[in-house]
Amino acid sequence: MTTPRDHLIHWLRDAYAMETHALEMCQRQVERIKNYPELTERISQHVSETKDQISKLEECFRILDTNSSVFRNALGWTAGNMQAMSGMLASDEIVQGSMSSYVFEHMEISTYKVLIAAAEAANEPRIAELCASILEQEQAMADWLEEHLAATTSKFLERDMTDQPARV
Ligand code: MG
Ligand code: FE
Repeated sequence: MTTPRDHLIHWLRDAYAMETHALEMCQRQVERIKNYPELTERISQHVSETKDQISKLEECFRILDTNSSVFRNALGWTAGNMQAMSGMLASDEIVQGSMSSYVFEHMEISTYKVLIAAAEAANEPRIAELCASILEQEQAMADWLEEHLAATTSKFLERDMTDQPARV
């Protein structure tokens, strides 16, 4: 028999691996983006939110008296990293990146919705609360990216017609 608590721990570890990857990805984007200041600003804000989310997940592991399992983390996101790196070589990196980020935020949203339900089933109201506060930030980030997808695309297309050297 597998208890809700066992599943909760497993999914929290996946979430921890996901956030570790998210932090790296956002930091890399902030470093690379030069010509889209509103994106730089919003992603920088999400870098601090993500650091905060990682601390909240660590609090969840403390509550459950378990750890984040480093082994899973190391292996879990290799494919995602490869994908991010291939996107970085494309001339339309800013558009590809915006699309990837939008998809990524929705994966985070689904993760925290599952975690909230699992925490409730496992009778862990504090964990449900922590996950709900993270979910709010992911939803806000997804909404922001959605609102800015069209404008980012227009700006890229305009810049690309004049053959600007730094397209990102
Ligand atoms: Mg996150
Ligand atoms: Fe996020």
